[in-house]
Amino acid sequence: MTDEQLQAWIEQISLRSFGVPFRHQARFNSRLRTTGGRYFMKSHHIEINPAQLATYGEEEVERIIKHELCHYHLHLAGRGYQHRDADFKALLQKVGGSRYCHSLPGSKQRKVLPHRYKLVCTECGMEYLRKRRVDPNRYRCGKCAGRLRLYTLSGG
Ligand SMILES: [Zn+2]
Ligand SMILES: [Zn+2]
Repeated sequence: MTDEQLQAWIEQISLRSFGVPFRHQARFNSRLRTTGGRYFMKSHHIEINPAQLATYGEEEVERIIKHELCHYHLHLAGRGYQHRDADFKALLQKVGGSRYCHSLPGSKQRKVLPHRYKLVCTECGMEYLRKRRVDPNRYRCGKCAGRLRLYTLSGG
């Protein structure tokens, strides 16, 4: 699907579900990564993550578009356009928009990295968990200043 097709699709959804035209620009943005779509308050543009289309299909993307259009129309109308606003919640439910906007369904917005490495003090045995690989020679034990050894944790 091209940006032009996305634009036409959003205009169509806007008229059909909201009864108001979408007068601004829409485009795909593959850099959104974990985000399904985004509404820009300054430009009134809407961007959609093309990975959504590939992963979840048109039905889910239509729900994301409806979500973004809720932000769009309420914002332009000077009403409560944020997730916590009653206007937003009511309109979202009415048009059947996705609850998700700023993250892909099933993926957490703030992904917590697991601890994959462990630094162990060769002197006192103190352990320090690390999420990323580090050079053990660059650090010393915080307890006894002894030398550290790096271990990779299995699993996770
Ligand atoms: Zn949103
Ligand atoms: Zn130590």
